Amino acid sequence: RRVDRVRRDFIANASHELRSPLTVIMGYLDALAEDDRIPDGWKQPISVMQDQSIRMRRLVEDLLQLSKLESGQSVPKDHVVDVAAMIAAARKEALALPEHPDSIEIELQSPANLLGEETELQSVVSNLVANAVRYTPPEGEITIRWTVDADGGHLAVQDTGIGIAEEDIPRVTERFYRADGGRARQRGGTGLGLAIVKYALRRHDAELEIQSRLGQGSTFVCHFPRDRLALS
Ligand code: ADP
Repeated sequence: RRVDRVRRDFIANASHELRSPLTVIMGYLDALAEDDRIPDGWKQPISVMQDQSIRMRRLVEDLLQLSKLESGQSVPKDHVVDVAAMIAAARKEALALPEHPDSIEIELQSPANLLGEETELQSVVSNLVANAVRYTPPEGEITIRWTVDADGGHLAVQDTGIGIAEEDIPRVTERFYRADGGRARQRGGTGLGLAIVKYALRRHDAELEIQSRLGQGSTFVCHFPRDRLALS
């Protein structure tokens, strides 16, 4: 347990320390990109450096977030998180992403809300919806569904995208595991999204279920126990 804590602290500190130098580099790159004195031949390399430093910042932020979530303890049940607002925010973010499917539907089948930490739950929904956009062609469809039954609350993000091979399904929540290798990286993912989802759910006593078929689409369902519901 001690080794595990040392490892976690190291990752948290390293990501934190990397932030400031990265901010400086990005600041100068922005200035260079707008400087007329820079020869034309440098425009393209500077733009590539900007893209890559944005990617690096996203990685650092995700690593930091993951190390915070990994500490594992259950989140207190003293805050009500508005599920409808959270889903609406994730949809809005998705519509701002490039090449998003036109059809992103919301099906709210219950007025119940959740008990926990809003930023963490928002990150769960946003990551799942961003993935659905990333792995679904523009002509595909995404549905975000919230249902409640005797077992608890179920938040599902369904897409008609590329799907995941059966043997990859158990591994996609591992850090940096990518079912389709380079392609996922090109689409702007950090490879940490589903690990963040898994740990944030664990802190809410919830579980992630993945149903998927290669070439047909995927459904990611977050199952929350009844005592995480705020039934008004
Ligand atoms: P990434 O940043 O690479 O998307 P994630 O942890 O979010 O990292 O996802 C891990 C891998 O799971 C992805 O690289 C992709 O291969 C697969 N994956 C995740 N969501 C979907 C989805 N909705 N459809 C198809 N594949 C997916």
